[in-house]
Amino acid sequence: MTSPSGTIETPVLIVGAGPVGLALAGALGSRGVACLAIEQGEGPADHPRASAINARSMEFMRGFGCAPAVRAASAPEDFPHTALYCTSLTGYEIARIERPEHGGRGPTAVSPERAQRCNQIWLDPILRDLAAGFASVTLRYRCRFESLAEESNCVIATARDLATDAPVRIAAQYVIDCSGGHSPIRRAFDIPMSGSSHVGHHLSIFVRAPDLWKHHDKGKAALITFVEPQGLWRNLVILDGRELYRFGVRGKKFYDAPEAVDADRLFEEVVGTSVPHEVISIRRWTARNVVADSYRRGRVFLAGDAAHLNHPSSGLGLNTGFGDAIDLAWKLEGTLAGWGGAGLMDSYEIERHPVGVRNVGHAGATHDTDRSQNPHPEIAADTAAGAQARRALGEAIVKAQTAKFITDGIALGYRYEGSPICAPETDPPPPLTVSEYVPTTYPGSRAPHAWLADRRSTIDAFGRGFVLVRLGADAPDPSPVARAFAERSVPLTMLSMADPAIAKLYERRLVLVRPDGHVAWRGNELPANPRALADRVRGAA
Ligand SMILES: Cc1cc2nc3c(=O)[nH]c(=O)nc-3n(C[C@H](O)[C@H](O)[C@H](O)COP(=O)(O)OP(=O)(O)OC[C@H]3O[C@@H](n4cnc5c(N)ncnc54)[C@H](O)[C@@H]3O)c2cc1C
Repeated sequence: MTSPSGTIETPVLIVGAGPVGLALAGALGSRGVACLAIEQGEGPADHPRASAINARSMEFMRGFGCAPAVRAASAPEDFPHTALYCTSLTGYEIARIERPEHGGRGPTAVSPERAQRCNQIWLDPILRDLAAGFASVTLRYRCRFESLAEESNCVIATARDLATDAPVRIAAQYVIDCSGGHSPIRRAFDIPMSGSSHVGHHLSIFVRAPDLWKHHDKGKAALITFVEPQGLWRNLVILDGRELYRFGVRGKKFYDAPEAVDADRLFEEVVGTSVPHEVISIRRWTARNVVADSYRRGRVFLAGDAAHLNHPSSGLGLNTGFGDAIDLAWKLEGTLAGWGGAGLMDSYEIERHPVGVRNVGHAGATHDTDRSQNPHPEIAADTAAGAQARRALGEAIVKAQTAKFITDGIALGYRYEGSPICAPETDPPPPLTVSEYVPTTYPGSRAPHAWLADRRSTIDAFGRGFVLVRLGADAPDPSPVARAFAERSVPLTMLSMADPAIAKLYERRLVLVRPDGHVAWRGNELPANPRALADRVRGAA
């Protein structure tokens, strides 16, 4: 809506329409919440970045109805998600980490969705189309955010229409900063970022090389890291599983003078032979492992890369950002609708900051292991010492780096421990895991997946309002909880799951699931004070 003074009025302004801004716009749109997303670029990015879309992000896509489109845009069903280490594609293999639970099209035992490899150059347009399809969402490209000022009941943002150079004034109740690692908002607020001070300098080279695997004996692999006497400084990441790759090269000298880089030579060196290929584009980027000390200033919230940055090798950046967007969307909906209490928006930082710290820490630690490798000088040589070095390094890599490539525990098992809007329990929580996901309904956890009788997943039953799940044949009558939620206009539906296997998986006879699919409370009996529970989970305790 535009006021007579020309100010655009919107409940939520999203600054930046990268994948996280677009996912947030889509999530708000799917909830009927009006928002405006402004993006300085002309459309989705055309140079590849993220490809690894983990199972939890795929569950979000499923909730949006986009999972089939993402799967169709992903690497082919039979393309292995193998992480391979070798001296060159025609040289020696050093290590191989298989990921049978990733890729493919069917469900796994723990999720209705498998992790996919769908690069942002295909994912972002899917998210843009999703967001643009909602009448309540406005996307405005070629519009650059410039500054903001907080007033008593709104934020006034100033932006510039890059087509006309005209200023744009926007009044928003909430501003979500999805403007990426260089966030002008985080800088304006002077919010420090803590973490590793190491900065890696990289070139990302977008290459077309049809049927590359026909020119070597290593077979198809999704991620290939080259082990050379000088260290591990080059890698190759599949994009479409057919002919497109992101070829990564680390080094300050390359970063400082990309125009002087002979990308064709660097590429053919790692292949080990001359192959038909074409360099499409080259971009510079820096890697840091840092998290903003605060995700909030008043009515302004940081999400995605604006809030946390990590080395991409464990595929956690975009996935963590999607988690931010999903957490924010229902809290904004509840707050704007009036049923959310004063503490609901506060809980965003309390819940998401620790996830950011954990994921960035994991990405940093596993990447450090690769970076600190000092391969034997004969690692690529046909000598006894070379063979021995390859064996030893291969074993060390598999031992240390499986946790870098298999992060299902991080993807599905993250938990909002200590959140003020989840009911605390006196029993200690189950341990957090990295590679293996262990289902639990411990408050703050993602409610586990199981198939319902109609071949829907339990995950499909969550995502709108709160859901109180009654498990087994003799779960207590939840009417007092329903009344308490209704008195406060908090959306709640009931769902009975009689299947004994699901009752066992869900660990209690009653489990209250939030609009983002995380458990807010569980018990075998009704809560002692249903009103207090309703107030806690809506942030009004
Ligand atoms: C080489 C590489 C590989 C990666 N691989 C993976 C992976 O496999 N899996 C994974 O999870 N993550 C990966 N990542 C990380 C992932 O790309 C980022 O985490 C993700 O793009 C962050 O999304 P975002 O929307 O927060 O920020 P961005 O993608 O940076 O988008 C921010 C947007 O804000 C816009 N913007 C900035 N300033 C303004 C302004 N003043 N006004 C208006 N608009 C503005 C920008 O133009 C941009 O479109 C990778 C990153 C790199 C560099």
